[in-house]
Amino acid sequence: MSSAISTRTTESGATMYGLIERLYPICRSITGAGVAETLDIISQQIPLEIHEIASGTAVFDWTVPKQWTIRDAFVKNSRGERVIDFHAHNLHVVSYSCPINTCLRLAELRPHLYSDPEHPDWIPYRTSYYREDWGFCLAHSALQALTDDDYTVCIDSTLEDGKLIWGECFIPGAISDEIVISTHICHPSLANDNLSGIAVSVELAKGLLAATGPHYSVRILFIPGTIGSIVWLATNVERLRTIRHGLIAVNLGDPGHLHYKRSRRGRAEIDRVVEYVLHRRKDDFAVIDFSPYGYDERQFCSPGINLPFGCLSRTPYGQFPEYHTSADNMDLVKPEALEHSLGAYIEIIRLLNRNGRFQNLQPMCEPQLGKRGLYASIGGRSDAKERQMAMLWVLNFSDGDHSLLDIAERAGIDFDVIADAAEILTQHALLARCKGANP
Ligand code: ZN
Repeated sequence: MSSAISTRTTESGATMYGLIERLYPICRSITGAGVAETLDIISQQIPLEIHEIASGTAVFDWTVPKQWTIRDAFVKNSRGERVIDFHAHNLHVVSYSCPINTCLRLAELRPHLYSDPEHPDWIPYRTSYYREDWGFCLAHSALQALTDDDYTVCIDSTLEDGKLIWGECFIPGAISDEIVISTHICHPSLANDNLSGIAVSVELAKGLLAATGPHYSVRILFIPGTIGSIVWLATNVERLRTIRHGLIAVNLGDPGHLHYKRSRRGRAEIDRVVEYVLHRRKDDFAVIDFSPYGYDERQFCSPGINLPFGCLSRTPYGQFPEYHTSADNMDLVKPEALEHSLGAYIEIIRLLNRNGRFQNLQPMCEPQLGKRGLYASIGGRSDAKERQMAMLWVLNFSDGDHSLLDIAERAGIDFDVIADAAEILTQHALLARCKGANP
């Protein structure tokens, strides 16, 4: 276990683990019954708006795919035994396989079988979303055990015009400007990639719904990967102006430490706040620069969109050996890792809500703090000197150009001490919060 996380399992860690356990058996894909069932379970926990778009709809350079339904899939040997069985593990069928019902020799079947010789007991996860094809995934050891035989090959699936659906949880704040958290919901029985992101997002939503007076509105997206974010962006072009900060929430349950992948902009407020929070938490973490690969940051940070979206995960995309295999299961995710990830998200949103630019309303020389009782207000505290310095820093740099985070970093004083000072000074009519986005 990494030193990055405590071994204490609290109630929310267990709750998130429980939700992953419940969602794990469902065969999800980018469309179809598995996504609907997943959204239904989420909607039992938080208010969720379900949206849909018809197959065939053009979205930017893409087309909403047909809806996939899978009922059964197997390969039977000549003795009638299922040597590959979808009902034993849903990773056995290549996601989006078209229907097939035929009899094949092993040599004919072989090009449709996928295994991973490096991990001979794990079933790999494969998809065929944008090319009509069919196939099976199996452990390499099972593949090697197949003898030259006549095999009955059946995939009982349907690919037909239908719809793509996604869910949104909207939590209104004092202003309509939004923080967007996006997580993908399209993977079948894979626990870390993507159920951990779903579980942390659900628990985060519960906490935000219970909070009083948040500054920003928060929108949490539960969308199929890639096509879901493209659909969402294409159908929300008008809303993009109001999005101030975004995070892609993925891989949040493995024992690795937190990784923050910066937005394409690199030094956006979300980038600075996440890095500040990770530094302050004093656990191991890593920061990586943006690259046009990985999860849905690829879409949110495409050049025509260029929203300030980072990706906060534990072990990043593709970098854990269990990634996209049957070993990404309930043993890989840990309640304490989920809890630790949730804590980081809560802290980041709290800081984003507190951060702002202010205007000093008495900028001609220093205002007289003593006559307003401002020295007395902090007099009894052991950190009175630091809090007094925080007031002076906030008054001096609240010129409308500097955010509280700018001031905290420049002063070398903890952000919350600076934000507390801004709050007191605002109460005494010495400061006013500026409208509009922080620079
Ligand atoms: Zn994935």
